[in-house]
Amino acid sequence: MHPWWSTLRPRSKAQPILADLLTRAIVPVPPVVLREGGVIQEGFDSALDELKAISEHAAAFLIKLETEERERTGLSSLKVGYNRVHGYYIELSKVQAQQAPITYVRRQTLKNAERFITPALKNFEDKALSSKSRALAREKQLYDELLSDLLKAITPLKRLAEGLAILDVLANFAERAIALNLITPALTYQSELIIENGRHLVVESMLEKPFVPNSVQFDDALRQFIITGPNMGGKSTFMRQTAIIALLGRTGCPVPAEQAIIGDIDRIFTRIGSSDDLASGRSTFMVEMSETALILNNATKHSLVLLDEIGRGTSTFDGLSLAWATGCYIAEQINAMTLFATHYFELTALPERVETVKNLHLTATEVEDRIIFLYAVQPGPANQSYGIQVGKLAGLPASVIASAQEKLAWLERQELLQFDQPHLPALANPPQQSELFQADAKLLTLQDQILNIELDQLSPREALSLLYELKDQLQESH
Ligand code: ADP
Repeated sequence: MHPWWSTLRPRSKAQPILADLLTRAIVPVPPVVLREGGVIQEGFDSALDELKAISEHAAAFLIKLETEERERTGLSSLKVGYNRVHGYYIELSKVQAQQAPITYVRRQTLKNAERFITPALKNFEDKALSSKSRALAREKQLYDELLSDLLKAITPLKRLAEGLAILDVLANFAERAIALNLITPALTYQSELIIENGRHLVVESMLEKPFVPNSVQFDDALRQFIITGPNMGGKSTFMRQTAIIALLGRTGCPVPAEQAIIGDIDRIFTRIGSSDDLASGRSTFMVEMSETALILNNATKHSLVLLDEIGRGTSTFDGLSLAWATGCYIAEQINAMTLFATHYFELTALPERVETVKNLHLTATEVEDRIIFLYAVQPGPANQSYGIQVGKLAGLPASVIASAQEKLAWLERQELLQFDQPHLPALANPPQQSELFQADAKLLTLQDQILNIELDQLSPREALSLLYELKDQLQESH
């Protein structure tokens, strides 16, 4: 027997007597509050029906009175009306008010009209107003009686409400599973999360093109992924879909994936987006750091942690150092399942220090100077950030793009030249390619030197000794 069934069955006992009472007593779509009445069904209580009839017939009575009085007095401007403060009245224009019959008693004077009351209208008013309030009082009394009748059956009703709530959720899960192509995940007690071809349902529903599904695997050996790739490449979507699948799965809902194993996840921590909280005096960076502190102080081995950029709100070296130290701490001390998206390429060296950390990247490709996102998560670090291409896509002026490209080329060369001065202690083990880069850097220096030689200014002797010097340098770098 399915566990849901044993939960549902004892909570699904029909209550025909109560059902009959409620159907007879309450209108199909009752108002939210009782104050204005209209809750009790017609035919349930004859006294209430009678009182309601009086106030409902009021409109017909007033029309009749208006026609009769107009005919009797011959005054064409005569109107009957009602206002909350003064009650019912007969209104005549200022001119015709002079000819009002003697039985008309003045009630209110307006700019262009006079309002009157007559004994007959006053009599009607008393009846109509009192019937309305009596109807409301009667309705309230009936409603209270109904509640006390229901109170006697509170225990079976509560159980039934629980059953209906469960059924409602399950029916919703089932309908969503069929409509959105979801699968039932396997739930385990381990600290693991394995998703094969997962999807982000909201992004998927907004797209006109097909969504690119992606997989992720956290197990004993793989605990943290450093995710690099271009802006707009799909990093956030990938991280969020992982968390949503974990959350949906643990609530018992089918998930958008081809296969999923969801371990025992105690909490999902996220540090996503940056907004300030100026009202309570916290800058963007302070908010970012407080959120990071909360994660580092509370996450466990069973937590899922999403870090979408850390340290962006301060200087590059500060930020990079904090991001590096955070990644290390989570991997080495907490061992939480972590997705860490970053634009600091330096962080892609973290897997060299901690075995359980791996690099992933989102792919993009360039076609005729235009960037095309592929949204597929691949192993390893990204090789380019495509920031300038994304700026171009967003509509930055062409001259800004051109000058950014120039600046980037210059910065990249500078960085190459300075490569043998690592600025971060944590990066003391430079990436494997560093030696290659150093050799390249020396060649570039040499090339610069040669290009700067003013040949016409050299004596033959100086030229010869320079040639020896350059040759020596070249031999050194080989
Ligand atoms: P990033 O975080 O890398 O800047 P986002 O995750 O915000 O990128 O994704 C940017 C946009 O790319 C999304 O709004 C969506 O339109 C599209 N996108 C992201 N992931 C996918 C995917 N797996 N398949 C198809 N489109 C995607």
